[in-house]
Amino acid sequence: MILAKTELDFDAIVIGAGISGLYMLYRLRELGLRVRVFERGTDVGGTWYWNRYPGARFDSESYTYAYSFSQELLDEWDWSEHFASQPETLRYLQHVADKFDLRTDIQFSSEVKSAYYDDASRSWEVQLRDGSKYRSRFLITGIGTLSYPVWPKIEGIESFRGETFHTARWPHTPVEVEGKRVAVIGTGASGVQVIQTICKTVGHLTVFQRRPNWCAPLNNGRIGPDEMEVIRAGYDAMFARCSETRGGFIHTADPRLTFEVAEEERYEFWEELYASRGFGIWQGNFYDTLTDKKANKAISDFIADKIRERVDDPVVAEKLIPKDHGFGTRRVPLETHYFESYNRENVELIDITETPIERITENGILTGEKEMEFDLIIFATGFDAIFGSFDAIDIRGVNRRRLKEQWHEELATFLGIQTRNFPNMFMVMGPHAIQGNNPRNIEYKVEWITRVIKHMTEQGFTRAEVGSDAQEGWHEYVVEQGKDLLMRGVDSWMTGVNRNLEGRERRIIAQYTGSMQTFRRRCKEVEAGGYRELNLK
Ligand code: NAP
Repeated sequence: MILAKTELDFDAIVIGAGISGLYMLYRLRELGLRVRVFERGTDVGGTWYWNRYPGARFDSESYTYAYSFSQELLDEWDWSEHFASQPETLRYLQHVADKFDLRTDIQFSSEVKSAYYDDASRSWEVQLRDGSKYRSRFLITGIGTLSYPVWPKIEGIESFRGETFHTARWPHTPVEVEGKRVAVIGTGASGVQVIQTICKTVGHLTVFQRRPNWCAPLNNGRIGPDEMEVIRAGYDAMFARCSETRGGFIHTADPRLTFEVAEEERYEFWEELYASRGFGIWQGNFYDTLTDKKANKAISDFIADKIRERVDDPVVAEKLIPKDHGFGTRRVPLETHYFESYNRENVELIDITETPIERITENGILTGEKEMEFDLIIFATGFDAIFGSFDAIDIRGVNRRRLKEQWHEELATFLGIQTRNFPNMFMVMGPHAIQGNNPRNIEYKVEWITRVIKHMTEQGFTRAEVGSDAQEGWHEYVVEQGKDLLMRGVDSWMTGVNRNLEGRERRIIAQYTGSMQTFRRRCKEVEAGGYRELNLK
């Protein structure tokens, strides 16, 4: 029997109190719904709560990454840097939680173990690790794309007697690195930020690199009170600009093609991008940079020369230049003196494709050449992206269909927000939804989901499940979109590949690569059509 609102513990359960979950709670509470957020951590912040490794910071401009929904919040919050550090971002999210009194509906230290849908009662039963169970009409996931850390399978990890930390599970108490012998495994965006930061204070740093990434300068800077006022005065225009770009960033591709532009002018443009803040060199480059092999090779050569200029030892420089993929075809880590780190006496680069790690020992790391002793090993080895945070919860839909099985057979969703067989479940950061500058897109998706739930509540509907035609249509569109992108031919978390995990050797269409405008247009069509695709009942 369909359970009445009064027979449910909550109208909506939200998993996660990060950027998605906080805003979802704010909006649903505005509708007058009874909402409970379950959060595994002891505080709000999600990504910015967990990733507190040295050097963690935004690499999208702070002011473009913040919430835009509250003028009061925009008016009162000052950013101290163009790319804020993790502690500042966490303080910001804590401020948001306090300002809007969100904590009263968030249950911390509460990890969701399972979520089962029951069609008879049209409700979800959510069970926490402590065994407690709660029933609600709607289940909303705010569990992120990159939130389930992966430790590499290296023999002997447990035998190491020093300290080991994963960047995404960094302790809350200070970790002393001063003067220590430290190893970092992994050179993605997290590894790059750690390496360039701790190299200044550690005794000796050994970087174990499997594949280098194309890194480009962050060009961060402080924001003084006057500049903050200018930024504040420009918020409307800036958010409007973000909503016009492909991914929600302030940077947008230059309409010119690489070789349309005379050589001298082309290099001037690249120099300008290399010297300017943020993702411009990736997102604001010539139109064909990420689709045309020849154009991509040209910018890759430009960046490679920069690396050669910045790294003193030519052998080390060559090791830091990617040879297996072109610039921008994997996520570009933005750096601050990263390459110069390798000019320091106390920093050593080990290319593990040449000198493989054989095992971790009691004292350190044994390579084919020697045993190296360490006090601390840092794993910057990334995440079980896209799937990991969902797989960690036993989510079952109609007829106890497991989400994990369904997605491992074929990853398909509708707008990344719903997936067939899982009625009344909405995902803020689901696969095949627009991503890019996440907060911009999170705000949009949260507001869209809120309107679906509002409509259902007002019209007395208790069930929403995307139909197979709508899901297939979106899936085909996602597959078709971005088929020309060079990134599709490259192994990375963005193509679903993770060499540390079984069954993730094959590239898949893991992300929506179309534009934000197309994504939003489709969302608007669905709304204008009264959510026919969701088969409201
Ligand atoms: P990642 O990009 O997946 O990088 C993981 C690194 O670990 C790679 O260099 C990988 O090498 C290496 N690795 C994995 N397993 C290994 C093994 N068994 N042996 C040796 N090396 C191994 O992860 P991430 O750096 O944490 O970044 C993930 C994403 O999070 C980024 O792309 C970005 O979207 C986001 N992020 C954002 C920020 C920011 O906004 N500021 C900061 C950090 C992260 P291979 O390349 O050879 O696989």
